[in-house]
Amino acid sequence: KEKWQRLSVGCSKLDRFLRGGVGVQGITEIAGESGSGKTQLCLQMALTVQYPVTYGGLSGGAVYICTEDAFPSRRLQELFCCFPPTFSEAQTNMNFGDSIFIEHIGDVESLKQCLLVRLPQLLTQRKVKLVVVDSIAGLFRSDYDPGDAVNRAKDLQVVGGQLHKLAEQFHLAVICVNQVTNVAGKKNNETQQQPVAALGLAWANMVTTRLQLCRTAHTVPDPHQPDHTVCVRTLQVVFAPNLPSDSCHFIVTKAGVFG
Ligand code: ADP
Repeated sequence: KEKWQRLSVGCSKLDRFLRGGVGVQGITEIAGESGSGKTQLCLQMALTVQYPVTYGGLSGGAVYICTEDAFPSRRLQELFCCFPPTFSEAQTNMNFGDSIFIEHIGDVESLKQCLLVRLPQLLTQRKVKLVVVDSIAGLFRSDYDPGDAVNRAKDLQVVGGQLHKLAEQFHLAVICVNQVTNVAGKKNNETQQQPVAALGLAWANMVTTRLQLCRTAHTVPDPHQPDHTVCVRTLQVVFAPNLPSDSCHFIVTKAGVFG
C-alpha cells in the first residue's frame, strides 16, 4: 500500500484512473497546450482540497499563484455552484472562497520571493494543503535571454527545490502547470510533431509526476446542452512513481471536468 495521500481532482473517473487523485508527494506537473483544461483541473482541486479526507480532500485551503492571466474567479464560482451534490454535506460548513489565497506574480524574482518568504509565513499561519503555480512556463520562457540557460536552470532548481521542501514540510500537494512545445518524434515509424512539456531537462528532473492533457478531434454531445458538442480530451500519465503510463478520456463542461 502506498504511503502518501492523494487529493481528488473532482472527477470520479479521473480519480479512479489516478488511483485516488494527485499524490501529496513532490511536484505534480500538468502540461498541455493552451485550452487543454489545465486550469480547470487546478480550480477543481482548489475546491476539493477543502473537503474532508473521506471525500477525497485534505481539509485545508489552497494557494493559487497566477503568473499569466488574472485568477479566473468567475469560473471558480461557477464550478463551485455546479460541484457534485455528493459533496454538499462537506460544503455546508465551509466558505470556499475564504480558503483560497491568490498570489499574482509577474517575474521569476517575485516567484522566488513568494516561495522563499511569503509562503513559509502563510503556511505556518493557515492550514493550506495545496499550492498551484499556474503557470511555471510563462515566467521562465520570457525572463531570460536565449543564451542564458545556466541562470535559468539555476532558478528552476531554486523554485523546484523550494516547492519540494514546502511540500514535505507542510504535507502539501504541489501542482505546476506547464506549456508544451512541439518536438519531432517517431510514431508508427513516421516522424511526427509531438507536444512535449516545456522547460527541458533542468525542470523535468524536478517533477515527480508529469501529466499531460490534450484536445482530440473527436466531439461528443454536451450533457448540459444536448444540441451542443464538446471535444474529447485525453489525460496521459507521462511519468509517475506509482502509476502506469496510460491515458484516459475526459470532457470539460460548464459543470467542470467529467469522465
Ligand atoms: P488551459 O489548459 O489553457 O489552462 P483551461 O483549463 O482554461 O485551459 O480550459 C479551457 C477550456 O475549458 C475551454 O476551451 C473550454 O472548453 C472549457 N471551459 C472553460 N470554462 C467553461 C465553461 N464555463 N463552460 C464550458 N466549458 C468551459
